[in-house]
Amino acid sequence: MSLIVQKYGGSSVATPEKIKSVARRIIATKEEGNRVVVVVSAMGDTTDSLIELANRVSSNPPEREVDQLISTGEQISVAVMAMAINDMGHEAISMTGAQAGFETDSSHTKAKIVKIKPGKIVEELKKGKIVIVAGFQGIDVYENVTTLGRGGSDTTAVALAAVLKADACEIYTDVDGVYTADPRIVTNARKIDEIEYEEMLEMASLGARVMQSRSIEFASKYGVRIHVRSSFKQDEGTFIVKEAKSMMEKVVIRGVTVDKEQAKVTILHVPDRPGIAATIFKALAGNNINLHMILQNVSEEGYTDVSFTVMKADLKKARATTESILDEIGARSVTIDDDIAQVSVVGTGMKSHSGIAADMFGTLAREKVNIEMISTSEIKISCVVKKEDADRAARSLHATFVEVEDKREAND
Ligand code: ADP
Ligand code: ASP
Ligand code: MG
Repeated sequence: MSLIVQKYGGSSVATPEKIKSVARRIIATKEEGNRVVVVVSAMGDTTDSLIELANRVSSNPPEREVDQLISTGEQISVAVMAMAINDMGHEAISMTGAQAGFETDSSHTKAKIVKIKPGKIVEELKKGKIVIVAGFQGIDVYENVTTLGRGGSDTTAVALAAVLKADACEIYTDVDGVYTADPRIVTNARKIDEIEYEEMLEMASLGARVMQSRSIEFASKYGVRIHVRSSFKQDEGTFIVKEAKSMMEKVVIRGVTVDKEQAKVTILHVPDRPGIAATIFKALAGNNINLHMILQNVSEEGYTDVSFTVMKADLKKARATTESILDEIGARSVTIDDDIAQVSVVGTGMKSHSGIAADMFGTLAREKVNIEMISTSEIKISCVVKKEDADRAARSLHATFVEVEDKREAND
């Protein structure tokens, strides 16, 4: 008997009708002779609404209480999903993250899974029940409820598939699979049949929110083969794997991503001497703020400007932290720009190809898109641009790198 872990995202369980339709799909999997563990996200935009609620009652909600609040979205979904399945004549039991054995560290709103004790899940599976687990949450050693960062239900599912040694890990969502770009932005984007962990991890980290990046780290560490597919169709989606069987090596750029969830912080008039950067970034790290890009301008008369990007959710903390050290480092002031986006091209083929940066900058220049920051690695090039330019930039980069390449392959 196979064990299948399925995860259904927020849009797949947004209404009672959708919950019933997902319940039927889960039951069908059970009736095929499988044991089934299901992870569900909060219904529709519930998490956004809960965050908004927190910000309405408090200008600076304590992160512990934010977690306590936003974890309830998934707790609603699991209970109603179990009810719907029971109503259809099958036995299901819902569990919160804590009940399912998810232990995390204490970094509220972006906690890391430390250990999973799946005893209770296994016990219920033995009784023949379908187990419905709340995504995105756990509990720390002090029994505080924690959450795993936006999109964290993906990580719950992949981690469960790893610990339960599941035969399949299926991520059901509102798109048919992983595309060469967000299909809502780039209409010419096409579905990718198979993608390797390395490229998927990079795309996820750079804004392809179809999978949370940490879920891919888990998959890669434990060798979980993930199938991303549509909740509404039966077709095969995208397989995320260690090594792809198809002729992947031909492709230089696997995809284009856009991340609009970042903001740029600039510290002005910073003394240009050893130890200053260390002081700034130590303070930020101490407050659990993750940085994406860092840029230090050319020094003029002993002073420079230092810019970095952070997730918008961390912006308040980042601003307060940098302002609190201005006197210590002798800098003038802090400015914020949250009207930016990061556009990237990703592909392991870049390792053995030169000229991608030139082509990327050339494409952006033709579109009259100004580049504010650049960051590169072996398998990606990212540019920070004005938010209003981001979608146009992504479409033209997709045309340059993916569509031209596809046409060439079709003619071969
Ligand atoms: P869920 O609620 O199922 O977790 P998400 O909204 O988190 O779904 O992720 C699915 C969304 O990710 C899609 O609707 C799509 O707009 C977006 N997306 C961004 N980049 C990509 C990509 N490269 N491939 C597919 N979807 C993408
Ligand atoms: N509900 C959470 C979010 O909106 C977790 C998830 O959907 O994966 O981020
Ligand atoms: Mg998601």
